[in-house]
Amino acid sequence: YSRVRLILGDQLNINHSWFAQPDEDTVYGIFETYSEATYCEHHIQKITGFFLAMRAFAEALRAGGHEVHYRTLDETRKAGLNSITENVADLMQSVGAHEFEYQYPDEWRLDQELLSFSEKVGGVVFDTEHFLSTRDDVAQLFEGKQTYLMETFYREMRRRHHVLMDANGEPATGQWNYDQENRGALPKEISFPAASTFVRDASDVVAMVERHGIQTMGRMQDNVFTYPVTRDECLEALADFCTNRLPYFGTYQDAMTVHHPLLYHANLSFAMNTKLLSPREVIDAAIAAWRDDPNGISFNQVEGFVRQIIGWREYMRGVYWAQMPEFEHTNSLGHEAKLPRWYWTGDTKMNCLSHAVNQSLDLAYAHHIQRLMITGNFALILGAHPDEVDAWYLGVYIDAIQWVEITNTRGMSQRADGGLIATKPYCSSANYINKMSDYCKGCHYDPKQRTGERACPFNSLYWDFLDRHRERFSGNFRMKMMYRAWERKGSEEQVAILERAAWVKEHVEEL
Ligand code: FAD
Ligand code: SF4
Repeated sequence: YSRVRLILGDQLNINHSWFAQPDEDTVYGIFETYSEATYCEHHIQKITGFFLAMRAFAEALRAGGHEVHYRTLDETRKAGLNSITENVADLMQSVGAHEFEYQYPDEWRLDQELLSFSEKVGGVVFDTEHFLSTRDDVAQLFEGKQTYLMETFYREMRRRHHVLMDANGEPATGQWNYDQENRGALPKEISFPAASTFVRDASDVVAMVERHGIQTMGRMQDNVFTYPVTRDECLEALADFCTNRLPYFGTYQDAMTVHHPLLYHANLSFAMNTKLLSPREVIDAAIAAWRDDPNGISFNQVEGFVRQIIGWREYMRGVYWAQMPEFEHTNSLGHEAKLPRWYWTGDTKMNCLSHAVNQSLDLAYAHHIQRLMITGNFALILGAHPDEVDAWYLGVYIDAIQWVEITNTRGMSQRADGGLIATKPYCSSANYINKMSDYCKGCHYDPKQRTGERACPFNSLYWDFLDRHRERFSGNFRMKMMYRAWERKGSEEQVAILERAAWVKEHVEEL
């Protein structure tokens, strides 16, 4: 072979132009490496998911007539080749190749590693042909701005890609944004359709990971893995979402319940982040489902979904490339606390956190509002160090790849970026959680109380957070009302709340 082409674990795009036809001079290298399995403490389902999807992709390429050199973790460890580039160099030498080609990695860490390797061997880099925007689009759109407004970027994407637009370049229904309709709490009587799952025995992968002493977090019951890992399975999961959950997606997008982990969310982030599905085909499928059934699916559902994908997802990627590597070290609120151990065990009496954390440990999945308003909110008002928060989020979710994890965690959730992404911090007391979920009903703590033994810890921590950061936030237009409410409490109540917050922080491991 004269050429080695590298395929990373999150570059499983079968429609990439590389694969248009087999080429007998080219061998594709796919490697399970120790460095990728250990750059953070991953959830066991996350490592399993990536390895299974990579193996299935290698098979799909071979079936298409391509030459693939696949190395399992056992093989790369045995050869003492622990990084991606060590494996590429070794493969090039063993097949006598003198050309190296790769696709742009989505992570800074790998981008740097491959850039310097590629310079040494005269490599050529290709686009991944996955995203609808370039790495630089966000940086260019917001050049010189203090705040990057997602809405501005989203409208630009709608226009540029003619998504839900009319012939005059205006939004198809005359309105860009349906967020007002997308904040529904769940009615009492509601059913949740069962989502399709893809059952696989993953015992061999788990045993292999254990054999190499790799530390993992989370659980996988009976080693049964259920995420889609082949292209056909991902397409089936997409169709299942469009038929069964899209009709309610927008309306209940912010709701949470003890009765169901997924509600009406798509659970397609792993399929998209590995590039098994493209964002374009995902939104096209949702829009087609809406067009085919205009009376069954209201516009706010499909607009809400499209916004997440061509808005938030593409925007976060652009923020990542505009801000890295400095972004990784931001801590604008000067937070220093440790995350309690129960983020790794789920052992807490706080019902909302117990649900969100245990679900994350069991399924490597939580939906957006659980991530933002339960686990993220608590870490923020507790004052946890963003490094701690990042380590947890990057490990625990099956879809956690740094470009989309860190921007959501440090940026959106922890406001470590000084307000680049969000115009106000995503913090709340029990009030919001009680309104948007049924968690508080079965809780050891009382969502109405601010002080006393049974007072919900969110309440005192929330006011403590506002008080601590008064200088920074009291002038913020969107937070003025909250500061007024705090002032109205009077000094006696304020002192009692702050004392309770101090107790909560000191005893956080026991909550
Ligand atoms: P749905 O609610 O069904 O949304 C559909 C799709 O829209 C998602 O699959 C995702 O691709 C995209 N999307 C929605 N919101 C966002 C967002 N804020 N940023 C980027 N894409 C979005 N997403 C990840 O893919 N990986 C992460 O590591 C990750 N970490 C997060 C950490 C925090 C603190 C928060 C608040 C959010 C995080 N998100 C992350 C975004 C979002 O929560 C997940 O994409 C979503 O929960 C995945 O489940 P779903 O496919 O059911 O999403
Ligand atoms: Fe969570 Fe507080 Fe409600 Fe308990 S009372 S579920 S801790 S918000």
